Amino acid sequence: LIRLEQVTKRFGDNTVLDHLDFSVDAGKHVTLIGPSGSGKTTILRLLMTLLKPDEGTITVDGRKLFPATEKERREVRKQIGMVFQQFNLFPNMSVLRNITEAPVTVLGMSKDEAVERAKGLLDMVGLADKCDARPAQLSGGQQQRVAIARALAMRPKVLLLDEVTSALDPELVAGVLDLLREIARTTDITMLCVTHEMNFARDISDQVLMFDAGRVIETGPPEKIFNEPENDRTREFLSAVL
Ligand code: ATP
Repeated sequence: LIRLEQVTKRFGDNTVLDHLDFSVDAGKHVTLIGPSGSGKTTILRLLMTLLKPDEGTITVDGRKLFPATEKERREVRKQIGMVFQQFNLFPNMSVLRNITEAPVTVLGMSKDEAVERAKGLLDMVGLADKCDARPAQLSGGQQQRVAIARALAMRPKVLLLDEVTSALDPELVAGVLDLLREIARTTDITMLCVTHEMNFARDISDQVLMFDAGRVIETGPPEKIFNEPENDRTREFLSAVL
């Protein structure tokens, strides 16, 4: 469903991604792990079209995201939802409006349908009673649940998760991860996650990609990566984080 071919991204003379190739099959859950600064977040930002690659092609569901015209890119982009580390909710909108805004303005969904779906999603994430609250009135964990509901409201084929628990108080992390496990178990959405939560990565991943210096240095199912890593860098990284 997602394919990166020979993707290079530089910031000045810092080559963050170096002729990167990888793909994610439809419905699979793939986790990117690796040291800080290895380029994991950059990949998600490219897929969200928040950045452009310097070289290479990116396709989603057989359609070009790069290179492509702005119009083509906008269409492909609708199939991709993202949840950020810092929630990024619209602070001046109610929780309900945060979720209905994009389905109405981007997908052209009727307001009634968007509200009905948003309420269903809020129920799923355990916040049915918070429709009228402003984001600032919620805990970090609750805000992140709203951000997850907002991403799902667009019915994306792909959900990108960028270290979604790293800004949360420790006691709120498990609840958000459980919600994501549930989504992984009960939907056919394709997930690409960057995470430092190795237990979570082990639980939800079909495949783990170990990154170092802008390249995938090892890949495999979680049992292999976590129990029998072949690469010395992977072993070093895991012994530091596990
Ligand atoms: P972390 O786990 O710390 O988030 P990461 O693997 O996600 O790390 P990236 O955020 O992708 O790493 O960053 C990779 C490199 O790109 C880093 O060296 C970072 O300093 C650099 N970088 C990222 N964004 C920019 C930017 N907008 N301008 C300049 N350099 C950037």
